[in-house]
Amino acid sequence: MAKRRPARKGRGGIIGTGLFALALLLMYAASSLGLISWGSESRLDLGAEALPEQGLFVAYIDVGQGDCAFLACGGETMLIDAGVSSAGEAVAEYLAAHGVTELDYVVCTHAHDDHCGGLDEVIGSFGIGTLFAPYTEFDSSGAFTRFEDTAAERGLYVTVPPLGSEFTLGGAVFEFVGPVSDWGSDLNDSSLVLRVDYGETSFLFTGDISSGALEDCALIGGYDISCNVLKLGHHGSSSSTDAELLSFIRPELAIACCGEGNSYGHPHEEVVSLLQERGIELMRTDVLGTIELVSDGSTIAMAA
Ligand SMILES: [Zn+2]
Repeated sequence: MAKRRPARKGRGGIIGTGLFALALLLMYAASSLGLISWGSESRLDLGAEALPEQGLFVAYIDVGQGDCAFLACGGETMLIDAGVSSAGEAVAEYLAAHGVTELDYVVCTHAHDDHCGGLDEVIGSFGIGTLFAPYTEFDSSGAFTRFEDTAAERGLYVTVPPLGSEFTLGGAVFEFVGPVSDWGSDLNDSSLVLRVDYGETSFLFTGDISSGALEDCALIGGYDISCNVLKLGHHGSSSSTDAELLSFIRPELAIACCGEGNSYGHPHEEVVSLLQERGIELMRTDVLGTIELVSDGSTIAMAA
């Protein structure tokens, strides 16, 4: 598997600085006085809440039918996927509204448009530290090529993360625990799988990997894929969640990132029933919109 040159190291510590807050305050004052008109291109949302100063913040951003997750801990930030191309602007607005100007890590889980499409907008709008993506020669929609072209235009290198490599995100640690095999043209099973640990709490991000390929991360790779919060693979499809897999993962909360009334029927009824039978709570972005959680290292709660 070819590896490309590593990306530049992120500079870190970029959230909600006092300077940024002051700038917002001054702009708000100017806006109130009619000195600034907020055009449709404004990325600032003065009504937005600040990120929690303590703990690990995890947001499953509602991008319709697609995936997008934002994590922040100790002043460092990470974005995993950004939905389809047309969702990119909303993702950028969400990040800007939370005071984000740079992302320490950006992860493209795999080369499907509903994951990498919106990343064009993000990597064109924010300072980027390390950009991770799997290596693939297969790009049926052209979305991954656009993503790579935008990265190249911005002078960013794409890093193919070695399996088992670990990185810190503030006080949290994330590890690439999959995929453990080269799945060639099967882009879903080529999804990068990330495990994020903060204190005693853990989160698993699965892209669109199928249940068999995810089980292999434990059975073949020997990685611990148990977690408190599982982002269901492939938007809650039955191809990605079955009883055997849940026995490995044993989550308390499952997140389905899917669009309202999506034509795929995600999350699939079999998956919803399986979670109910096992007493695993299900949260869906098509029902709840963006889901924001915060971990203090021992418990996970909805962000205030
Ligand atoms: Zn997908």
